[in-house]
Amino acid sequence: MQCLPAPSRADLTVKPRLLRHLSLILLFLLLVLGCGYAAYHISDRAGIRALAENGERQLELNARAVESEITKYTYLPSLLELEGNVSRLLLAPTAYRRHHVNMYLQGLNERSGSLAIYVLDPDGRVIATSNWDEADSYLGEDLSFRAYYQDAIKGRPGRFYGIGSTTGEPGYYLAHGLREGNRIIGVAVVKVRLDALEERWQRALLEAYVSDENGIIILASDPMVRLKSVRPLDDATKERLARSLQYHWAALEELQLFNRSPLDEGIEQVSFATAGVPANYLLQTRRLEDTPWHLTLLSPLQEQRSAAMSHGMLAAVAAALLAFLLIAWNERRKVIATRLAAREALQAANDELERKITERTADLQASNERLQAEVRERQQAETTLRQAQDELVQAGKLAVIGQMSTSIAHELNQPLAALRTLSANAVRFLQRGALDVASSNLQNIAELVDRMGKITASLRAFARRSGDQGEASLQQAVDAALLLLHPRLQRTRVQIHHAFTETRLNIEQIRLEQILVNLISNALDALQPQTDRQIWLSGASEAEHYQLEVRDNGPGIAPETRAHLFEPFFTTKPGEQGLGLGLTLSASLAAAAGGSLTVRHPEEGGTAFVISLPYPREPQA
Ligand code: ADP
Repeated sequence: MQCLPAPSRADLTVKPRLLRHLSLILLFLLLVLGCGYAAYHISDRAGIRALAENGERQLELNARAVESEITKYTYLPSLLELEGNVSRLLLAPTAYRRHHVNMYLQGLNERSGSLAIYVLDPDGRVIATSNWDEADSYLGEDLSFRAYYQDAIKGRPGRFYGIGSTTGEPGYYLAHGLREGNRIIGVAVVKVRLDALEERWQRALLEAYVSDENGIIILASDPMVRLKSVRPLDDATKERLARSLQYHWAALEELQLFNRSPLDEGIEQVSFATAGVPANYLLQTRRLEDTPWHLTLLSPLQEQRSAAMSHGMLAAVAAALLAFLLIAWNERRKVIATRLAAREALQAANDELERKITERTADLQASNERLQAEVRERQQAETTLRQAQDELVQAGKLAVIGQMSTSIAHELNQPLAALRTLSANAVRFLQRGALDVASSNLQNIAELVDRMGKITASLRAFARRSGDQGEASLQQAVDAALLLLHPRLQRTRVQIHHAFTETRLNIEQIRLEQILVNLISNALDALQPQTDRQIWLSGASEAEHYQLEVRDNGPGIAPETRAHLFEPFFTTKPGEQGLGLGLTLSASLAAAAGGSLTVRHPEEGGTAFVISLPYPREPQA
């Protein structure tokens, strides 16, 4: 069965950290977007408010301008009441009077800057007009269907915006009922143009329009919206308006406004397409005084929206920056805290270390003092030991001399006896005059005296105390040892084989001689019982040491004895013959010189002692 691997500890710890990071990133994005949106919203609201306030002022100003443009002409039709020719023409029309009135109206029209001034008879037919001499003159035209006529004939001021049925030219019609006593005998009409307002708006880059009582735009800064309805028109109204020819044959399409959202009384936010491009506007409407018309001002929200967008982005960037700063500050705070903790831990560790060092130093000092005391004790012991060793060496030497005393005495007695005989003979030969023989005897005497001097000199040298330092000649040492042992060698007839080369060794001369005397005299002792007596002195160079082997063909050493050879006072020799110090002393003298003394038990029999000694040290440059 296969087991799924258990999630490791690392997986379990990574996940919460990942989640924490993800939620932090999400929070960061939310904060940035939230700040951006809030700033955008606030800036948008404030911008709209400022735009609305400014729009309100513009609206007021332009409304006044429109009102004054309209009211400028209101007195004009009533002026005709004062003109006697007009009332006379209305009461009794003649061609002459008509001509007069036509001329008068033409002059008046020119001076007032209106489009046309004309007079209607009570039936609504044009009886005189300022454009009497033009091709599209109104003269004789029946305008009784016009609303301004119908109002004026009833004594009400006729106000009407419409497109001329004859000229197709838009204009504002002001009508006034002309009275003769209490009776209305005709209607005076002034048609004025309001295009000047549109031009003024265009120059000021204002987007505005005026809608009339039917909701139809009659004046607009943008010619495209002219004659469009600002509200939906039902079929009956459309029918009525079409029949009235007020807007000539205009289709009266509805102005397409989208996304309308009212903000306040007379203020709303809309979007509509100008030249096919949809744009947002702040729409403000105000009713014009003394008319059923409304002036509407459109303030584009484009710039204000871009500003709000910029503010939003700025706020988002600032929030991001602030968040980054906060994160950085937090990270820094963490790093500082970690560093502080680490520093404290380090300080604690340091203190602990210092305490341990102090303790250890105290321990070390104590053990150092102990060691120094021990060293002093050892030095003391070594000095004592060295003294004891020296004493032992000396004792050994004296013992050897003591052992040899008989043979020394014998050695000296022999030449002495010979001296006595030779000297007596010499005297006798001198008396006989045998000078040659006497001289020969004296020569022998001198040789014997030399020999005795050598024996005593070597004994003195052997007995002398010596030190650790020094350099020895191997050849000299062997010669001295053999000289010292000469009597015994002669007596025992031992054959000595020399197989070494002269070399200098790092040991005091006397000490090397002493070792050799000990080893050779031991060999002589061992060889004593037998007749074939041989001793080999053979040398070999071993790295930094030179080894000299003193081997005899004696009986060898019994196995039970071998372990005790170098023990002081161990001897197998009977009575006074052995002290048991020879090997002990020799070994310690070799060791003191940086060498050693070892024993070998050759298979062919006999015993071999090996002295290993270092070469003298090269003098330091
Ligand atoms: P001593 O000669 O006074 O006995 P040593 O220390 O010189 O003291 O020798 C100790 C013993 O070692 C001797 O008693 C002897 O038994 C043994 N020994 C030393 N050299 C030889 C040798 N060449 N052959 C046999 N035995 C020896």
